[in-house]
Amino acid sequence: MATAPHRQAFSTRQVHAGSTHRSPASRTTPIYLTAGFPFEGFDDAAAHFGQGDGFGYTRIGNPTVDAVERKVASLESGAQALLVASGQAAISVALLGLVASGEHIVASSHIYEGTRGLLQENLARLGIDVDFVDDIDDPAAWEAQIRPSTRALFAESIANARNDLLDIAAVSAVGDAHGIPLIVDNTLATPYLLRPIEHGAAIVVHSASKFLSGQGSVLGGVIVDDGRFDAGRSGVLFPHLVAKSRSDSPSVADRHGGLARIAYLREVVAPRLGPTPSPLNAFLIGQGLETLSLRIQRQSENAARVAHWLATRPEVESVDYIGLPSHPHHRHAERYLPDGAGSVFTFTLRGGVDEARLFIEALEVVTHMTHVGDVRSLILHPATTSHVQRTTRERESHGVHAGTLRLSIGIEDPADLIVDLGRGLAASHPEPVPALSLSAIPVVRRRPASVPA
Ligand SMILES: *Cc1c(COP(=O)(O)O)cnc(C)c1O
Repeated sequence: MATAPHRQAFSTRQVHAGSTHRSPASRTTPIYLTAGFPFEGFDDAAAHFGQGDGFGYTRIGNPTVDAVERKVASLESGAQALLVASGQAAISVALLGLVASGEHIVASSHIYEGTRGLLQENLARLGIDVDFVDDIDDPAAWEAQIRPSTRALFAESIANARNDLLDIAAVSAVGDAHGIPLIVDNTLATPYLLRPIEHGAAIVVHSASKFLSGQGSVLGGVIVDDGRFDAGRSGVLFPHLVAKSRSDSPSVADRHGGLARIAYLREVVAPRLGPTPSPLNAFLIGQGLETLSLRIQRQSENAARVAHWLATRPEVESVDYIGLPSHPHHRHAERYLPDGAGSVFTFTLRGGVDEARLFIEALEVVTHMTHVGDVRSLILHPATTSHVQRTTRERESHGVHAGTLRLSIGIEDPADLIVDLGRGLAASHPEPVPALSLSAIPVVRRRPASVPA
C-alpha cells in the first residue's frame, strides 16, 4: 500500500504554505518587506558573513533599500549612498562615522534645530566638541575654528531661516587643506537644484522625509559619499578606517579604498546603532524620487512668484529668499542654483506674533504644520515653534523675528496660493499699511552686524 504524502500540520502550514522565494519580474522595484533572506546554499551563508555578499538580514541590506541608495547616489553625483530611517539618523550616522570622543566638529550656526540639539546635547555628552561659524560666507571664519582634533565640517546648502546659501567650493577647500571632509545637508536644495559633491563636498546628507519622498507620507534619511577618501592623506585623522581589525584582517580602507567612509557607516555604524529604514518607506521614497525634477521645477517657480509678490506688499517687512536679487548671498545663486532657488523661505510681517497668528488662522489652502518639501504648501511660525528654545537675541540673529513665517511652497496653482496668502494679509493687517519707499523693495533683512553668533 502506497503511503500518502506526509501532510504538514496546521501550525506548520500557516507559516510555510503558499510562500515562495521565486518572484516574477516586476516593472517597479518590489517592496521586499522581509526581515531576512534565505541563503541559497551553505557556502552562500559564509560568503555573506565573510565578504558581505548578497542579502542576509534587512538591518544589513535589503534590495528595495539598495535600489533607492543607488538612485540617490547617482542623482547626487556620489559614489555610494546609505539609506536610514530619518534625516536625524543620517546626520547622526554620518558624524559618528568620522568623530570620536575628544574630537571636534565645526558647524554652521545656520542649521536645522534638530541638528543643533544633536551637536550641543547628544554629541557633547559623548565628549565630542562643536564650534559654530556664524558668517558661513567667510572661509577665514571656518579656518579660524579648526583645531588639531577637528574631524568634520558641517553646513546646510540652503539654510533655514535666512535662506543663507553655502559657498560649498570655498568651505570644502578649507576642509581639504586639513584632510577634513565637508558634510552638506542638502535637504532644502535637493540634488535636482544643487549637487554639493560636484562643488567639492565629500559627504551629502538628506532628510528624505522632505522633497525626496515629496508627499509627506514617510520619514527617511540618506548619506551620500563621494568615494574619494584618501588613506594616505587623511588616514592619520581617521585611524578606525585604516587600522587592521581585531582579527588582523585588512582595514576598511584596504578593503574599500576611497569608499572606506561609507563602508564603515554601512558595516559598523548604521547596523549597530540600528536606524534601519522600513523597505515599505524605502519604496515610497523611491516612488517620490521618480518625480523629483518635475516637483522641484514647479515648486521653485511657484516660490519665486510668491516671494516676489510678498516683497511688494506693504504689510511685509522683509522676504528672505535666495532667489531675490536683494538676498545677501544671491551672488552665489547663479553658480550654485542655476535651475531654481528652491521653495522653502521665510518672510516677516510688519507687527509681531498677533499679526502672525491672524495671518495663519485666515489661510485656507496653505496648511499649518511643521514640515517642508511637501507637494502641499505649508506654513509655520518659527518663533513660537521650531525656534522657541532659543533666546530672543539668538532667534533675531538667525532671522527669526516675532512676525517671521516660514513657507514651504507646494505644487498648487500659484494664483490660488497668492489669493490665500492675500487672505492672510487682509486678516493680519485690516487697516491699510502705508507702502515702504520704493528703494526698500524687494527687501531682505540683513543680520545686524552687532549681534554675535
Ligand atoms: C527635517 C530636516 C532634518 C531632519 O530630518 P528628519 O527626517 O525629520 O529626521 C534635517 N535637516 C534638515 C535641513 C531638515 O529640514
